[in-house]
Amino acid sequence: PQLSYDVYDGLSKKAPTPRSLRIGILTREPNAYSTRRLVEAGETREHVVELIDTQRCYMLINAGRPEVHYDGRCLPPFDTIIPRIGASITAYGTAVTRQFEAMGTFCVNGSHAIAVSRDKLHAHQLLAREGIGMPTTAFASSPKDTRNLIDLMGEGATIVKLLESSQGKGVVLTETRKAAESVVDAFRGLKADFLVQEFVKEAGGEDIRCLVVGGKVVAAIKRRAAPGEFRSNLHQGGSAVTVKISKAERETAIKAAKVLGLGFAGVDLLRSSSGPKVLEVNSSPGLEGVETATGKDVARLLMEAIEKRAASTVRRRRRA
Ligand code: ADP
Repeated sequence: PQLSYDVYDGLSKKAPTPRSLRIGILTREPNAYSTRRLVEAGETREHVVELIDTQRCYMLINAGRPEVHYDGRCLPPFDTIIPRIGASITAYGTAVTRQFEAMGTFCVNGSHAIAVSRDKLHAHQLLAREGIGMPTTAFASSPKDTRNLIDLMGEGATIVKLLESSQGKGVVLTETRKAAESVVDAFRGLKADFLVQEFVKEAGGEDIRCLVVGGKVVAAIKRRAAPGEFRSNLHQGGSAVTVKISKAERETAIKAAKVLGLGFAGVDLLRSSSGPKVLEVNSSPGLEGVETATGKDVARLLMEAIEKRAASTVRRRRRA
């Protein structure tokens, strides 16, 4: 069946049972594979799962009783919110998430964590400070520093990457210094923010995506670039297979999610000669590639983590 935002009608379609949690999914994509899987997994486990169009939420901001409204009605309290905030609405999506937090709702990924993971510069700074391996990366603001920036990368090929890049669309491999300068000049001409990064050649067009749920790696896949391509994104024709990760890779993925404060994250790593290097930490990881390649029920594992967390909240409430 086609899912739609009409699922939210103030009354749950499914009758709640004593063990039901009321779970809201903030999304702009009600019919995406990941959304459907989360609804399915939640309902299988007796929860009431409702889809909330992030952009249709509006907020009543006051000191005593913050509220989120939707289509003329005040939303009822949710036990858990799963924010699936796309890159194009980060600012508004994190504001809506923050409003749920103000109401005391547990959000699988908090607004601050989502905002930080979206900001590549900020995320890199935090990960580096915690000693997490990553490709050497440089940022500059002034066009006067183009050459200096590229000098920092030393000899050899470099990567120039748009800060806004996703699905590998803004990632360029420059084989020579001259090429790097041209690309940097072009990005600057377009007023686009970018970073310059060491090219990890030995990764050989492969990267590892680790799905971290509640501080554990629950599934990992290896993505391999199409022949003649260095980007392993599935959107760039890459293919995915299940992979056994090393202890160091596991620890790095867990730590990266923890440093950014994400309860549910997709951590992308490169296998380098000096150990795992984190490329990016995604706060709305897709489930399709990972579930298909590994056969794991990641949606169920997320629901289990939510239940565990809810149980401890109830225990705390009872103790108080
Ligand atoms: P996006 O957010 O657009 O997916 P990524 O930083 O994840 O951008 O890069 C896309 C792909 O390009 C990665 O999956 C990886 O295969 C390749 N890649 C990115 N950075 C490097 C690098 N520094 N060295 C080697 N390969 C890289």
